[in-house]
Amino acid sequence: AAKEKGRNQFHIFDPGLDAHRRQRRDQLMQISQALENEEFELYFQPQVRMVDYQVIAFEALIRWNHPDKGMLGPGEFLPAVANSHLEIPLGQWVLKEAIHQMNLWHEADESLAVSINISAPHLMDRSFADYLESYLHSHPDVRPGQITLEVLESTALEDTKRASNVLARCQSLGLQVALDDFGTGFSSLTYLRTLPVDVIKIDQSFVRNMLTDASDRAIVESVIFLAQRFDHPVLAEGVETMEHARALRDMGCNLIQGYGIARPMQAKALLPWLAQWRDQVSRHHSLGKHEQTS
Ligand code: C2E
Ligand code: MG
Ligand code: MG
Ligand code: MG
Repeated sequence: AAKEKGRNQFHIFDPGLDAHRRQRRDQLMQISQALENEEFELYFQPQVRMVDYQVIAFEALIRWNHPDKGMLGPGEFLPAVANSHLEIPLGQWVLKEAIHQMNLWHEADESLAVSINISAPHLMDRSFADYLESYLHSHPDVRPGQITLEVLESTALEDTKRASNVLARCQSLGLQVALDDFGTGFSSLTYLRTLPVDVIKIDQSFVRNMLTDASDRAIVESVIFLAQRFDHPVLAEGVETMEHARALRDMGCNLIQGYGIARPMQAKALLPWLAQWRDQVSRHHSLGKHEQTS
């Protein structure tokens, strides 16, 4: 009875919260519908190796092609999805679609890998690795070494031990693991120590002002140093200018990603963009050689 009364009071005294919940429920229904209607789309952003400026992978970034509101970024719908029943199905859609797109690029270039953002519940779910395993089993053409799972460093992993077991199983299937947005969470160093990680991604908030802000520069340098000590390749996000790229290369950063290389693009734009990028890189390269020999 006390419980009943409590529930009534909740309705009477907090209509705001109730409206909020109703709104979220409606939004989740729309998202579920959108998944059915195939309104979600993956954009791809290149990840470039610093030694020779070759593209080694593309990161998949989800968009919602909303019939009324136009193209929505993940910030506009992933928060509603978080901790809902849709989080796992949406994550599985991303995984399948990203691998499907990678297979299409492979008709042009077999070396290109894909990087996929994974949300925390997948890491709490032992069946995620089962799902991956059976997926890879039924798709023998997919090389697991060409799939990287990006794990947000800032998600509070409620059970680090379990997450690291799931990730270790993914690694034993051949996948790579990247620690995304490194430095923004509360337990960066703990995660670095406990999670099995291959690549560290320095968060763009440190990269953005590193040329003018001495503490941001110190953080970027320190993360690169740390990554080297752990033998992890390090990728800098949010690289918007050539000056950033040059400074990062001088600091020993291995990989870069950002608007300075390319904005996230539609899948169909990827191969034309790549051809143009390679052309540009090889022209620079031969120009450099020419300068050296003359
Ligand atoms: P993230 O994984 O750290 O991805 C990088 C974000 O920074 C992307 O935003 C990208 O468009 C943006 N970005 C890239 N280069 C630059 C740059 O040079 N300057 C600036 N200002 N921004 C840049 P986006 O696409 O809005 O994604 C935001 C976040 O949403 C992602 O951050 C990721 O955490 C999450 N997300 C995106 N797609 C998925 C997905 O399929 N699944 C899950 N679970 N999360 C996703
Ligand atoms: Mg990411
Ligand atoms: Mg990131
Ligand atoms: Mg981010």
